[in-house]
Amino acid sequence: MIKNRVVVLGDAAPAIEIKPAPYDQAQLWLPKRTHSSTYEWLEIFMTQDAYRQINTHAQSTLDMEVGGMLVGQTCYTPIGLPYIIIEAPMAARYVKHGPTHLTFTSDTLSDALNRIDDQYPDKQIVGWYHTHPGLSVFMSPVDVWLHTNFFKEPWQVALVIDPIYRQGGFFRYTEDRPGHIETQTPGGFRELMEPGSDSVVRWKNMAAATEGWYHQKVYGI
Ligand SMILES: [Zn+2]
Repeated sequence: MIKNRVVVLGDAAPAIEIKPAPYDQAQLWLPKRTHSSTYEWLEIFMTQDAYRQINTHAQSTLDMEVGGMLVGQTCYTPIGLPYIIIEAPMAARYVKHGPTHLTFTSDTLSDALNRIDDQYPDKQIVGWYHTHPGLSVFMSPVDVWLHTNFFKEPWQVALVIDPIYRQGGFFRYTEDRPGHIETQTPGGFRELMEPGSDSVVRWKNMAAATEGWYHQKVYGI
């Protein structure tokens, strides 16, 4: 039974925490074509477990787009830089989808809110993901509509994965233009490593980048 809920994903979420970002436990990944001075105002961390689960879901259906919610935490560093940690995917139910489209229905969104209350009461929906089998990684007009209508918080992100070409990337709201999201150039993320483990990232459009130049350019430290 689906309860009626206001379906803006981010409402009534737990308070945003202030804590240091786990830079020293993460591997930075950037799109191979991005200029090295690219600045991301919102840092995205993703656990290795979340990466594995999302890609398993993405690979599960290659003749249809699939997707779901990104569950995790929204935080600020002690000096006020926002970041999110993606900890788990939640496959969407009640979607309308085909080979080249995926749309969430109001039932999809109500169901997601109910499940997050039950399964992850102290977590937030920090964004959503979906696949573009064989189409590459970008935000279509329908994707932009869905994102700007249902994922309105500035820290909510969209992850697009092409499971055939093995590509993936994130789209964030633009820092200086509220409600505007980049559509053609995906951004990178930080892989939150389990102690002693090797990277699990296999997206061919991403390259491991060193932290040194990035910190120096962005934070001056
Ligand atoms: Zn799409």
